[in-house]
Amino acid sequence: MPQTITLPEAARAVIVAHGEAGFPDEVCGFLVGAATGDQKTVTEAWAIENAWEQAGDALAGAAADTFLGEAKGRRFFIPPGELQKADQRARAMRQDILGFYHTHPDHPARPSAHDLAMAQGTFPGYSYIILQVQDGSAAEMTSWVLRDDYSEFDEERITPSPMP
Ligand SMILES: [Zn+2]
Repeated sequence: MPQTITLPEAARAVIVAHGEAGFPDEVCGFLVGAATGDQKTVTEAWAIENAWEQAGDALAGAAADTFLGEAKGRRFFIPPGELQKADQRARAMRQDILGFYHTHPDHPARPSAHDLAMAQGTFPGYSYIILQVQDGSAAEMTSWVLRDDYSEFDEERITPSPMP
């Protein structure tokens, strides 16, 4: 059964505004909310600084050689410390980090090989919302979940309000 993620208009607006303001750079943030079974409900989207410049501290060897030459227009990176801080902040609100959003400036809203590589460092339950920002304007928005075997992403449905 395909999973669904509920994204209220206010949270969608945060992602769209962040993505358009950051264009042509890729921007990213956290999806905060609650999960029940296969149903995730986002309550807030939290923008964070694109910390791709810091990725060198966390990536080692071949991965660093492969990715660090890239500009942040094509790459995003969330430092583990940021995730930990956001997780604590969410828990204090009795919420969880459900996943991440990031933008694809002038590229389709489909996970890249880089997205799959970066996701190997997380656990499969997270959602990855991708917003295509075309010529500076928000275009298609999709959401993806990593398979349990980490091999690829499956798309999940985004709904503006909870399923009945
Ligand atoms: Zn991506």
